[in-house]
Amino acid sequence: MDGATTQWDWKIIRAGEFRLDGGSMFGIIPKALWSRWAGADEANRVRLQTNCLLLEDGAGHLVLIETGYGNKFDAKNRSIFALEDRWIGPALAEVGIDCASITDVVLTHLHFDHAGGLTHLMADSSEAVPTFPNATIHCQRREWEDALANRSTMSKTYLRDHLDPVTDQMKFIEGEGEPVPGIVVMPAPGHTWGQQAVMFQDAQGQVVFAGDVMPTANHVGLPANMGYDMEPYTNMCTKRDLLARAAAEGWRLVLDHEPGSAVVRVECVDGVQGGYRLIPATG
Ligand SMILES: [Zn+2]
Repeated sequence: MDGATTQWDWKIIRAGEFRLDGGSMFGIIPKALWSRWAGADEANRVRLQTNCLLLEDGAGHLVLIETGYGNKFDAKNRSIFALEDRWIGPALAEVGIDCASITDVVLTHLHFDHAGGLTHLMADSSEAVPTFPNATIHCQRREWEDALANRSTMSKTYLRDHLDPVTDQMKFIEGEGEPVPGIVVMPAPGHTWGQQAVMFQDAQGQVVFAGDVMPTANHVGLPANMGYDMEPYTNMCTKRDLLARAAAEGWRLVLDHEPGSAVVRVECVDGVQGGYRLIPATG
């Protein structure tokens, strides 16, 4: 099938809720503002979801975009991040999908809350094994190299037990590419240097999943970048370009960590900080 005309059937698979420090999630935004937008729990954390996408083209490709945090964290880390007792394996089983039938996994980047589900622990075992044994796994070569070198301000987000067991399944992209016919990726730097956005078409038009460029609807303002971003200014520029194109070309965006309505359209608004407003849309 010609990639340019592939119309995908897709759905959001929620691979588990978690919480991160609100100050880190909103960078330079004062708590007086972000706590009004997102709420804060007793530990100053905000609620987040791991939204993954399952795509089917009817021509033999069953594609997963992102994998969530997986099932390998110990009790201490589960508590720090308030990890819901849920991960991508059971989440796919709920919709009748066997992990062995996934043909391709596309990752925006390799932080723990995106790549953690690539491997999992079997019952009564401490060895991490591939979750999608028959899949080709796609990410940017730069992202993989940065992950293996642990080039990050966060020392514990690129975790080798998420990555080493799938080394032989990896296929790398450099810059723009089409890792699966009808799924286009393009660089989206800022959060990491090697992050990529993932784009595809459905019957309604273009859908774009841009990873942590704009993790929740509360990050629509241009100054709302994360303390976790390697280059916040670069992320702001990437986000500005993404919002401008989404508004001009009628894209639907899927927000990776939005716990509420994760599919949105973008509207220009004069006089509003950042200049854009998100309108909930249907998948
Ligand atoms: Zn993330």
